[in-house]
Parts: sequence; structure tokens; C-alpha cells
Amino acid sequence: MEISELVASKVLDVPDFPKPGILFKDLMPLFADGPAFAAAVDAIIAEQGADTFDVVAGMEARGFVIAAAVAYATGKGIVPVRKAGKLPRQTVSATYALEYGEATLEVHADAFLAGERVLVVDDVLATGGTAAATLNLVEQAGGRVSGFSVVLELSFLAGRERLEGRPVHALLTV
Ligand code: AMP
Repeated sequence: MEISELVASKVLDVPDFPKPGILFKDLMPLFADGPAFAAAVDAIIAEQGADTFDVVAGMEARGFVIAAAVAYATGKGIVPVRKAGKLPRQTVSATYALEYGEATLEVHADAFLAGERVLVVDDVLATGGTAAATLNLVEQAGGRVSGFSVVLELSFLAGRERLEGRPVHALLTV
């Protein structure tokens, strides 16, 4: 089975969550299925190339799940990109617009070595606000984004256009 078909078979559409009008893509069935999850992680690594990045960054919270697996499978480290106020030491931060209001993401200021190549991983790419904020954070902290990988891309929201020409891979684009 193609990876896109496998992912499609393991994503549930939940209407009107977390608010009316949003069709939430629930990836928990993919995470819960061992062989399917392993296939998704392996496909992300194959699409980017394991030698194209030095460390993996994942966005709180579902991005942590995928980023940790990609990091372990490739023998690299993981940098969790956290919501504001969770990290104990000096941070850099990036604030971005949500549909209603705004959100702030942070990493420790010393999270990356100078010029380190960072693969950014999340579950869903929607408007690209979260991913663009993470790009900003990585650069503020001295790293360099080598690419973005998501399980699912909602292409009608054009998130990839905000990612400044970096390679963007999605296992399934809808
Ligand atoms: P965005 O910043 O708009 O690209 O949104 C991406 C972030 O919000 C990701 O971390 C996703 O987990 C979450 N997200 C946005 N839209 C959806 C959706 N329709 N279904 C599930 N998660 C979503």
C-alpha cells in the first residue's frame, strides 16, 4: 500500500473540533498502530534523507511524538518546541496569529549549535503559522532549517508558501 493510502486509512475526520467550522484531523489511530506508525516514520526519513539534518525539532504536542521517533530511528537528538512559559532557562520566542488571537512558541536560546541543520516535524500543516514561527525560532537560536516534514498537509490553506522555499514533505496532501 502507498504511504499516502495508509495514512488516509488511519486519520479520522472530526467535524467542528475544537470549534464550529473546523474539520479536525485526528492522527491518534496512526500513532496507535505499530506497523503503520513505523511506516510513517520511515517514510519521513526516506523523503528528507537521514544525512540532510543533524537534529529534529518537533512542535508541542503531537509533533513531539513524530519528532522523537524520527530522532531515535536516525540516531539524532530532538529539540522540543514548546508553548510559552514551559522552558526553565533563557529562551527565544516567536509569536504568531491564530484564527482567534495569537500563540507563542519557545526554545532554549542554546538549543542548537551554530549552523546546525534542523528537520522540523509536526503532525498537520494547516496555515503554516506554527511551522513559520518554528523556522523563526530555529534561526534566532542559531540553527538552520533543512526541511519540514508533516504527516498531513491541508493544501487549501497554503501553509507551504510561508516556509521560504525550504523542502516541505507531507505523507498525505489533501
Ligand atoms: P497551522 O499553524 O495553521 O499550520 O496549524 C498547525 C498546527 O495546528 C499543528 O500543530 C496541528 O497539530 C494543528 N492543526 C491545525 N489545523 C488542524 C486540523 N484541521 N486538524 C488537526 N490539527 C490541526
